[in-house]
Amino acid sequence: MLLVEDDSLLGDGIRAGLRQAGYAVDWVRDGQAARLSLETGEYALLVLDLGLPKLSGTEVLKWLRNRGSTLPVLILTARDTVADRIAGLDAGADDYLIKPFDLDELIARLRALSRRSSGQAAPLLQLGAIELDPASRQVRKQGKIVELSAREFTLLHELMRQAGRVLSREQLEECLYGWGEEVESNSVEVHVHHLRRKLGSSLIRTLRGVGYVIDKP
Ligand code: CA
Repeated sequence: MLLVEDDSLLGDGIRAGLRQAGYAVDWVRDGQAARLSLETGEYALLVLDLGLPKLSGTEVLKWLRNRGSTLPVLILTARDTVADRIAGLDAGADDYLIKPFDLDELIARLRALSRRSSGQAAPLLQLGAIELDPASRQVRKQGKIVELSAREFTLLHELMRQAGRVLSREQLEECLYGWGEEVESNSVEVHVHHLRRKLGSSLIRTLRGVGYVIDKP
């Protein structure tokens, strides 16, 4: 997801909280950088502060909607700017939070937003006995819930979404980590190992020196 927030302390806190909740977060601090990121990157969610340098959050949002984007957007706004909030919703925000807010509430709202948008776009992914629900972030094997860590889930989601395609370690690292986040060495290998243990050893195939694939049945 993309986080746009110019306040360093707040941005840092939000990013840490979202990462802990399993989101890969890219963080930019002004409206122009946000526009550039949205032009070049692929995001599933946008958390957008309204009061931003260079280009306001409302302007970013208007620009985004003018391009026909349906990206789910949650805006962050200061307590006393009712007019701003209305302008933000009018410009096409899906939800808003008033500062200061609770991180847990932000995460709950974002879950609800992705649930709504994935309800329209991509519901359940199913491959053999494995079923993955992107909205509730639940995985079932033969109908039974399998507990996965946030990163294991992200990795499995990416491989199932692109079943039949070989994904390189670098591609998988990219969906596990945001910019500037230190990539733990061998983390992809470790997560794949855990996924095999939990879901069956034949689920993910390794192509030595190339990458990983989940075959279509
Ligand atoms: Ca601000």
